[in-house]
Order: sequence, then C-alpha cells, then structure tokens
Amino acid sequence: MKLFYTMAITIATLTALSTQAVTPSLKIIQGNKETTSRAQHNIVATTEPGNRAFINGKEVKVYSTGAFADDITLNEGNNIITIATQNDSETTSQEVTVNYSAPKATNAPNTTQPIPSARPITPALNIKTLPGAYLQYGNGDDRLGGTKMGFIDDDIALKAVSETDNLYLVQLSRNKVAYIPKSLTTQTFERANTDNSGSWSIAQSGNTDRISITLPSRHPYHSWTQLDPTTICIDIFGVTNNSNWITQRGDLKMIKHIEWQQVDCDILRAVIKLKDEYSWGYSIGYEGNNLVINVKHRPSLHLKDLTIGLDAGHGGKYPGAIGASGLKESFVNLDIVLRIKQLLEKKGAKVILSRDSDVDISMSDRKKIFVDSNVDLMMSVHNNAGGSPINEMGTSTYYKSIANRDLAQCVLSRMLDLNLRNFGLTGNFNFSLNAPTEYPNLLLEALFMSSLPEEEMLANPKFRQRIAEQAVKGIEDYLKLVKQSTKR
Ligand SMILES: [Zn+2]
Repeated sequence: MKLFYTMAITIATLTALSTQAVTPSLKIIQGNKETTSRAQHNIVATTEPGNRAFINGKEVKVYSTGAFADDITLNEGNNIITIATQNDSETTSQEVTVNYSAPKATNAPNTTQPIPSARPITPALNIKTLPGAYLQYGNGDDRLGGTKMGFIDDDIALKAVSETDNLYLVQLSRNKVAYIPKSLTTQTFERANTDNSGSWSIAQSGNTDRISITLPSRHPYHSWTQLDPTTICIDIFGVTNNSNWITQRGDLKMIKHIEWQQVDCDILRAVIKLKDEYSWGYSIGYEGNNLVINVKHRPSLHLKDLTIGLDAGHGGKYPGAIGASGLKESFVNLDIVLRIKQLLEKKGAKVILSRDSDVDISMSDRKKIFVDSNVDLMMSVHNNAGGSPINEMGTSTYYKSIANRDLAQCVLSRMLDLNLRNFGLTGNFNFSLNAPTEYPNLLLEALFMSSLPEEEMLANPKFRQRIAEQAVKGIEDYLKLVKQSTKR
C-alpha cells in the first residue's frame, strides 16, 4: 500500500515535469576570461545535443556532442560577447566581458624557459646508476623532459661534476658530458675510471645475434641507428681499445659485419652493419661486466606469428586531454586500442596491452611490460590537444629513432585515407615509449580532443572502429615493406 502511494506521487511529478518547459543548458568551457592579449578569441561551450546556439547573434553549429564554438575578433578594450542556447520553447543566454589589450611590440612575451645553470661539485661526486636510468643531452625541462640520449643499465659508476636541483651533470669521457636525473642514481665508493677493453665475441643466440664485449667494469654507453645502410652504433665512454681482433662467425642472421673505432682517446665505438634494411631492434646491457648487445633477427612477417604491443595513453587519475563535451582522452585511447587488439587477434597476432582498464600506469612500467613480453612491434595510441577548437586539426604519427620512420609513415598514410587533415610525421620525438631500442615502435595521435569536429568523430564508436582498422592496415603495410626490402 505504502509502495503504491510512493509510485503514484512519482508518476504525478513526472507528468507535471513533462508539461513544463525545460530550459536549455549553457556551459562555457573556454573563453570566459577577463583579459587577453590576443585579438582572436575562441568561445567554446556546450548545451544539450539538438539545441541551437548563437554567439553574438550568429548561429553556430551544435555538434552531436552538444559542443559549439566560434572565433571572435576582439576590439581594443572591453568586449561583451553574448552566448545563447535555444530549444523549441526556451532560450538561455549569458554575457561574457573580455578586455583585449594588444601586446606592445617592445615587450613581446619571452616564451623560452630560462635554463637552470648547473652548480659545480668539488670534489667530483662518485655515483652509480639505478634501474631505469637514462642519460639526457641537456638540462631543459619541457613537458617531455630533457632530450633523452637513451636508457642505460644499472650499477654503472659515473663522475658527477655539477648539479641542478634534479640533475647531475656527469663526465662520460674527457670531452663528453651528459645529464642524469638524481633520482636514478645513488652515491658509491666506486670511481669511474678509463679502462682498456678486453675480448669481443659474436655468435647467434636464439632469435638474436649476440655481441659480447669484455670490460673490467661497467661503463656508460649511447647507441643509435643510421640508415643507408642500416647500422647500429654504440659509443662506450671511458674505454680505450685494447682488443686486437673480432672473430665473426658465418652463421649470423642479422649482422653483416662489425668493427670497432676509437673515436676519441676514451670513447670506443662499435659499428654494427646489418644485412637487412629494416632493424627489428636490439637490447644493450651488462652481464657481469660484459657489455652484451642482442640484435634481433627479422621475425616471420605474418601477423599470426607476431607479438604486438599496444599502449593506451593515460588512464586512472590521469585522463589526458578532455574534450568540450567531457569526453576523456584516456577512454578514447583505450577504446581504440581494444578495437585494434580485436582486429589483430582475428588475424592471429598475439597482443600485449599496457593497460586494459581505466588505471594509471607509469611510463617505466609500460615499457617493462613490452620489453619483458619481447614484443615484435609496439604502437602507443593517444589523441592530441591544442590549436583551434573550430577547425579540424588532423592526425599525426611520431618516432624517435630514424629506424622507425617508415613504420610511422605507413600508419600515417593509412590514417590519411580517412580524409583527415595531415598534422604530420614527427621524428626525434622525445616520448618515453618511443625511446626503447628493443622493438620497432611508434606513437599515433589519432585526432585532437580539443577540436570540436574531431571530438565528434572520436565520440562515435563507428569512427573509432575505422581508426582501429586503418592502424592495423598501417602495420600490415609495414610488414609488406619489410618483405619487399633488400637483404645485403
Ligand atoms: Zn595523450
């Protein structure tokens, strides 16, 4: 009885509500600020999808996400901007007052960050690396951190000669220095000395060609790949050559030949020429004091034989970019990744994910998942932010090592088949998940969360499916490219 009474009241209330006019919502997302020094001013706002919207009396497009925007040219001084939303019966409007004052030519904003100067440490401090350590060229600190030279093994003794708040400047050799985050080092009694190199050996080992260089102690190193012909170079710092030969066995699959070069009195370089035009990655690390480089053989080029790593950017308490309608980048990234996974698995590939739910994972843990799973190839999926909210901004791919340029190009070309704007192919990209040398990798920034037309596309599951399909085609194109490439 009592239950019946409550239900009757609820139905009565609902009936009353449905006959009442509902006011259209209006939420200003961007552009509600008091002052600006830019004449072009973007207003971004949301309402219920299906409503109409007006900015300064001009009707603007309301996307299916409910977002709308316009670009207003401001006059010097106060500008009153009227924003209105309208449904069948009601209008909501709001005024925003923005004061525009043009920047004076003489005091143009200085966008370069002052570089913190390093303070000398006397006497020099003996430190050694901890797991996850990496060297960087400079002490700059933008959103991607200082430019990384590369990861190095733990337990390597280094001499810190100066410091900033977060970094040591270490003397790698007589003429070379690098920065290292203090948090990735510990103090030690060991001293970083110049050593003579011992014997070198090369042999096939499992699915790699394995080079082992005997050293009296662990030394820092820096590696990179060159093209035409594809060559892996490794500088070993604080080492003078005392090796009188390199035995090269005939059964190597990826390495064509190797030679050492003494490029400075205390820098020994290993120059590793590959048989294949395309490298499948290499690992460098110490086994005891032996520096071991494992150069991966070309795998079978069928997806059914490959292990593909997929990384969905952000997650958990880090949503990444948030679109005007509240769409989270972390959600879109994961959804696209899960679709790619399904497509790849249908073709028989084994897929390793860095995350399969809305959780936060550190960059080093993501990298560890892929390295430990011995993936053959890795793609990180993000969506961009910035630029105009009114226009389409475009799709883009990114790589760090030149060895991964063609992979990034293959995926970009397939994304462009969706008639998206080309935001470009970016190289030398200092993103943590582009840094590993162990496997070919790329970053896909599918579209811009901050662009209203692109947010609308990303909010559509059918479009996310098309992005996933194109990403898979891009990977397949790369495998075809490798198949057609020359062996020397
Ligand atoms: Zn992102």
